[in-house]
Amino acid sequence: MRKQAGIGFPGVTSSEISRIGRVFLPSAVITPGGAEVEVPGAGRLKFPGPVRTPRPAYSLAPLAMLDRNAKPGIFIVYTSEQDPAASAEGDGPMTLGERRASLRRVLGADLEMTEPRWLTRTVGNSRQADRYRAGRLLLAGDAAHIFGAGGSLNVGLLDAVNLGWNLAAEVQDRAPGGLLDSYHAERHLAGRRTILQTRAQKALSADGRGGEGREESAALRELFGELLRYPEPLRHVGEIIQGSDVRYPMPGGGARPHPLLGRLAPDLRLETGGGGTRVAELVRAARACCWTSPLAPLWPRQRRPGPTGSASWPPAAWPSPLRSTRC
Ligand SMILES: Cc1cc2nc3c(=O)[nH]c(=O)nc-3n(C[C@H](O)[C@H](O)[C@H](O)COP(=O)(O)OP(=O)(O)OC[C@H]3O[C@@H](n4cnc5c(N)ncnc54)[C@H](O)[C@@H]3O)c2cc1C
Repeated sequence: MRKQAGIGFPGVTSSEISRIGRVFLPSAVITPGGAEVEVPGAGRLKFPGPVRTPRPAYSLAPLAMLDRNAKPGIFIVYTSEQDPAASAEGDGPMTLGERRASLRRVLGADLEMTEPRWLTRTVGNSRQADRYRAGRLLLAGDAAHIFGAGGSLNVGLLDAVNLGWNLAAEVQDRAPGGLLDSYHAERHLAGRRTILQTRAQKALSADGRGGEGREESAALRELFGELLRYPEPLRHVGEIIQGSDVRYPMPGGGARPHPLLGRLAPDLRLETGGGGTRVAELVRAARACCWTSPLAPLWPRQRRPGPTGSASWPPAAWPSPLRSTRC
């Protein structure tokens, strides 16, 4: 549909293939106590990884680490490979043989596995639709963006939240002119921020093909790790990853717009007639909500917006409590 509507999908096609399988491992390779797996030729493998190898990574973990009801013996086995030849196994459904062969290439040793419960492969492409709207066609989620690293689900959900109330207002004939177009303006910007952080994550986790660039990548990781020991960079990167740094373009802010204008509402502590609560609790019912503070005019304005209109917010100290006046 995207193609038929003439919407471009520019970006990067990756040669990296990730394979994930939920499979049973033989009890003989699981060490007593179940804390490691011993693979002849590779030694004892710890959970959950990921562990870098020249090809470049694998991880191994009992499914019980994610799901306490999982049967013992089922493991999540993950590999990623950057060798384009590794994709020669085709586009059909992934097989147990492919799961095992990929791990053998990455690990340099063979691990028996049986009874696959779930097998899938993904390619780490990184692309974004150049328009989220073409007339009556609106794109959201993976149809609008793919990132090649974590975060897709979160951004897709926020697209849906944004689009949902816009569409409802349009259908019920109470939308101001241009409301549906604001969906592109707001969520395309959010997608661009996610492209930025996921590409940076890939650069940080890259190990250099054939060994080239490995030292530089390691230096980049070390330096980045040093920066994240400081609260402000840590907060900034955390906000980009959770998608809360985006500042939607809003009219009427004047020359020095309030730091909260266009931002997602932070999860503030509030006082109500019924006692203390939080913003997240009040909006759970998906109904309009209004809260006020006598201190609001004094909220700090000195923080400058960051790149692409993002601003570092909230500040370390809140003027609290706020009062919820109507919900
Ligand atoms: C193995 C794997 C691991 C992942 N891990 C993570 C993770 O850890 N964190 C994260 O954030 N994201 C992760 N993702 C990505 C995440 O799953 C997707 O971003 C998310 O599911 C996208 O949701 P969506 O609704 O946009 O698309 P989808 O979930 O793909 O839903 C699209 C739906 O549309 C249906 N459909 C398609 N064509 C048509 C049609 N013509 N008519 C009717 N229906 C149609 C499909 O059957 C499907 O049900 C992972 C993805 C995979 C494959």
